[in-house]
Amino acid sequence: MRAHRPTRIEVSTDAVRHNAARLAALAGTEVCAVVKADGYGHGAAAVARAALAGGASTLAVALVEEGLALRAAGIDAPVLVLAEPPVDALPTMVDAALTPTVYREATLDVLDRLGRQRGTPVGVHLKVDTGMGRVGVPEADWDARLRQAVAATGLRVEAVYTHLARADEPAADTTRDQLAVLERFLRRGASAGLPAGVRVHTANSAATLLHPAARRDLVRPGIALYGLSPAPDVDAAAFGLRPALRLVTEVSFAKRIPAGTAVSYGHRWVAPADGWLATLPLGYADGVPRALTNVGVVLIDGRRRPVAGTVCMDQLLVWCGDDEVAAGDEAVLIGTQGDEQVRVEEWAAHASTITYEIVTQLTARVPRVVDPPPTGRPDHPPT
Ligand SMILES: *Cc1c(COP(=O)(O)O)cnc(C)c1O
Repeated sequence: MRAHRPTRIEVSTDAVRHNAARLAALAGTEVCAVVKADGYGHGAAAVARAALAGGASTLAVALVEEGLALRAAGIDAPVLVLAEPPVDALPTMVDAALTPTVYREATLDVLDRLGRQRGTPVGVHLKVDTGMGRVGVPEADWDARLRQAVAATGLRVEAVYTHLARADEPAADTTRDQLAVLERFLRRGASAGLPAGVRVHTANSAATLLHPAARRDLVRPGIALYGLSPAPDVDAAAFGLRPALRLVTEVSFAKRIPAGTAVSYGHRWVAPADGWLATLPLGYADGVPRALTNVGVVLIDGRRRPVAGTVCMDQLLVWCGDDEVAAGDEAVLIGTQGDEQVRVEEWAAHASTITYEIVTQLTARVPRVVDPPPTGRPDHPPT
């Protein structure tokens, strides 16, 4: 469908490819690119292809549906599904060659039966709870689950893995403690007959960047692949990672207003002087947090301009002061324009949240444009 609105999310596959290669070099190990939640809002298939081109060997998603979407897009790389689906989804998973994560007795049972019926053991990754407390085999069940996994001829445990709760805190002892718990599990596994060649993975983005001991055979970065920081104290840019996403629109309406004019819902902003006010045709229904009211920044004509007043559902206002602005001028909400940049990290700070929530809440109403030409809107003829 031809885009009628000028608002779009531009995704750079070059940045994703660069980040995947950077993370592989930094970790010195294999990279499993996490592309759940539609590639953290960037568009899963394009991001997956770019990550593979950058050297990632495998992909990971949260849902069977997300794995099937990658297959439908023609991607045949290994895809790990990071949590167990309901058991009735398991045949579909196996048919689509999606790699199941396992931790419950019933899931191992069904997959064992499927593998024996089909004459090919199903490769699985066994997830161990070492302190995240979310999913994974809890310590009380370690021996039973190991016995079951080793005895199941329809299954092949390809990897053992765990998830870290506080990897984004450089100083937290929790990461060291969780890795020690994992070692204990692996020793228990060895005595239970788990093959010696089983691979081990533990590292999300923060652990990949900050905790060399967590890197093991494979790292599982998500947010860093998109060039975004996993936490306020862990700056992605300092690791040579590049943001892959821009949020761009055009001024829809512009006018000069006198000093003292109050604008938008609640009249929470009042013009400090005579000057130019721009209206942009996007708002919180597109994923711009209402928390940017009076504190956000937008780039117009290569300069940082303050958001004026309440962010509305479909529109927001920007104060340009003495600088004349006109309908059709490009406005950048996330990304670079000229020498200036607005980072997702800034939005996250204003909205008291994390970069993850910002990018996954950019809504489907905004079209994703992969690798746009350097100038102009791709769907609009030059004027
Ligand atoms: C989402 C997820 C990741 C990726 O986390 P980031 O912090 O985005 O790098 C890795 N492993 C598991 C199990 C996950 O759920």
